[in-house]
Amino acid sequence: MASVLYGQPVAKALTDQVKERVDVLRRKDLVPTLAIIRLGEDSADLAYESGARKRGELTGVSVFVFSYSREISQESLKKELIQINERKDIHGILLFQPLPPHLNGESLRQCISFQKDVDGITLGSGGGLYENRPIGHCPCTAEAVMALLEYYSVPLEGKRVVVLGRSLVIGKPVSLMLLHKNATVTVCHSKTKNIREITRQADIIVTAIGRGQWLDASYLKQGQTIVDVGINFTPEGNMVGDLNEESIQEMEVNYTPVPKGVGSITSSLLMKHVVDSLWSIVEKE
Ligand code: NAP
Repeated sequence: MASVLYGQPVAKALTDQVKERVDVLRRKDLVPTLAIIRLGEDSADLAYESGARKRGELTGVSVFVFSYSREISQESLKKELIQINERKDIHGILLFQPLPPHLNGESLRQCISFQKDVDGITLGSGGGLYENRPIGHCPCTAEAVMALLEYYSVPLEGKRVVVLGRSLVIGKPVSLMLLHKNATVTVCHSKTKNIREITRQADIIVTAIGRGQWLDASYLKQGQTIVDVGINFTPEGNMVGDLNEESIQEMEVNYTPVPKGVGSITSSLLMKHVVDSLWSIVEKE
């Protein structure tokens, strides 16, 4: 029978660790603070924001939301970002993306210093990840995959891992993080041929392609661990992952469910990054 790797215990363990560190900081009158920057009222952004606020309350991290119209100009948003970035009472900045098409996201992202870039969107954070050095932060979702594998003691060294997807948010960063843990990593994307043959050779599959229930039993073999990052919706409005969970119930595999899987972990890591950020300032002083 397939067994389920839930995200909630991972999130709880991370939240407890973050809270302990926040308590230490607060005793010194230091309040780790996250600034969320939202343009408009996109429902996915609002849902993430509400999750972050709740996680902030649980951990003691303070969360401010700066909301702007989606029509805001490049110059105005740039000015706002620079001001927020310069504030000493803000230690982490989360800029919701994608930005509206009239804005130059690349130029705006670089207004955030890598120390405060708690979702790994700047070139500084990317460089840190590439070189496996503590510069900036990793994207929270990619790190959530790693946190889950670690929590459930899934061995990585020498294992064959197939990552489905190569986006800057998930596929690429998670591939590098797995490589740094000495896994043998194969990255597949929309132009990859014979994906079925590749996934069937894996010990672990991380799927982040955004195709609802696409990965069915025919792509898998017994004994695999499948981490499903996908968030998709059926025509009836139900949230599903990339994995076809129904098709694997009789297989001997471990898998993360959607919902209640990887997605439950990201806001805890966001808070951890804010605390890491403040902690590194305190250590330097
Ligand atoms: P994305 O930017 O659209 O990237 C999707 C990737 O999948 C691309 O690299 C694409 O290949 C590849 N792909 C698409 N169809 C494929 C196929 N049939 N076979 C193989 N590869 C295929 O998406 P993303 O931002 O990485 O997000 C991926 C999924 O994760 C989405 O469902 C998203 O909603 C979800 N997500 C979850 C969380 C969370 O907290 N759990 C957070 C963020 C995103 P090409 O590069 O060739 O186009």
